[in-house]
Amino acid sequence: MTYSEWFQNHGAKHQAIMKKLQHFSEKEVIQYFRFENMVKEEPDFCPLYKENKKCHDIDILNCYLCACPNFRFDDEGLEKEEEKTLFSLCNIDSKNGSRYISDDAIHQNCSGCLVPHQEAYIKKVFSRNWFEIMQDVQ
Ligand code: SF4
Repeated sequence: MTYSEWFQNHGAKHQAIMKKLQHFSEKEVIQYFRFENMVKEEPDFCPLYKENKKCHDIDILNCYLCACPNFRFDDEGLEKEEEKTLFSLCNIDSKNGSRYISDDAIHQNCSGCLVPHQEAYIKKVFSRNWFEIMQDVQ
C-alpha cells in the first residue's frame, strides 16, 4: 500500500467514526479515541487492535491523530539524498523520530515518538475534520 492509499483509507475511516460522534463534545470525542475504547468500539480502525496491541507503550494512548500532522510524504519521493530517495520525513525534526534506511530508500520512523498520541497535543491542533488537521502531510 502506498502512503497516499493509506492516507485516504485511514481518513475515510476517521470520517465515518466522526459521523457517529456528531453529538459528542470535543472532550468526549478525544476520550472516545483512547486505545482501550477504540479496541472495543472500532476494531477495524487499526490492524493492531485485533491483537489488543499498542503501537506505543504508554498508559493513555490516544489514536485520534494516527497519523501525525508533522509527517510529510511523497510517493514519488520528496528528494534525493545521494543514491537514495527520501519518501517521508518529520517536519519538526522530533528528537524521538528516526529513519528507516535501505539501499535505495529513506523513510521516516515514528516508532519512538509520542507527539501525536498525547491528548494535550490533540487538543492543541483539534478539528473534527481529520483531513483538515493533516492538510500539510502530503
Ligand atoms: S517523529 Fe513524531 S512528530 Fe515527527 S512525524 Fe513522526 S510522530 Fe510526528
